[in-house]
Amino acid sequence: MPINPISKLLDRRKPLRRDAEQALTQLARLSEQHPDLAEVAATHAALIRVAFREAPPVPSVSLDAVAAATKLQGGVPLLRNEQLRLDAAWLQGRYQQLCEALLDLPHTRSSTNLSRTALQALQQAVKRGTLDIHAAAIDILTGDPYSIGQRAEQLNLDPELAATLARWTLLPVLEQVAKQLEPLRQNLVWDKGYCPTCGSWPMLAERRGMEHQIFLRCGLCASSWQVANIFCPFCNARTHFDIGYLYDESQEAEQRAMTCERCHCYYKAVATLATIPTPGLFVADLETLHLDLIALERAYGPPG
Ligand SMILES: [Zn+2]
Ligand SMILES: [Zn+2]
Repeated sequence: MPINPISKLLDRRKPLRRDAEQALTQLARLSEQHPDLAEVAATHAALIRVAFREAPPVPSVSLDAVAAATKLQGGVPLLRNEQLRLDAAWLQGRYQQLCEALLDLPHTRSSTNLSRTALQALQQAVKRGTLDIHAAAIDILTGDPYSIGQRAEQLNLDPELAATLARWTLLPVLEQVAKQLEPLRQNLVWDKGYCPTCGSWPMLAERRGMEHQIFLRCGLCASSWQVANIFCPFCNARTHFDIGYLYDESQEAEQRAMTCERCHCYYKAVATLATIPTPGLFVADLETLHLDLIALERAYGPPG
């Protein structure tokens, strides 16, 4: 998909989803309060503006209630082994738009550093098709989230950046697919740590309502699922002996890093009254960045 200045200008005039606008306002406020987060907040804002600008093409999934129940009861995410007809040209175009949005950021523009070169190289590789985003998306959905990084590495591209932008490309599509599949999950128990829709690890958890019930949220498809309050999603530990939490003293009630002594992983949990809208997940992730530092300092890490 060609990207020219006029189409870029027209794209920017397209209305954003309301929850995306809300996330942009929250990010602007966060930058004001914490100037040290301004660059990363601007990066998130640029990605949100592209990702939630217009409704993506959403493939339908032909999965009936019986097949869905069989999968979930067997611990298999709903999208595993489904032939999802993703629009390869759209994915390729969207990936390039995300690269372009990051290249347009003032802090990327002015830099002569690696990130600018890395973004340009990625954009070119996707444009030429040497980095095949459709194939990478299929790998992610078949339970191999690391293949995109490996493909990127073979092409001398930045593997982490390549994987992050692939997730941002897929998110608005999979968010809609997950909504389509949500009725199939109702009344069925899913007590796993990985996403019941796409199989990814959770991005964070919500401690929802007055009772602080824990709902994990997927960062790839935005699915939400309830788990036990004392639980490690990564190794299934379920005892007070294993599960603890770290916090910043002023915000113990609102934001915590839940830690596991068995596998030494952690995840962040934020108190909410209602479900966090999908773009808001990235705001919550940034608002709790200090918890990542606290957890990493104490040698807890992400899974894998
Ligand atoms: Zn998911
Ligand atoms: Zn664990």
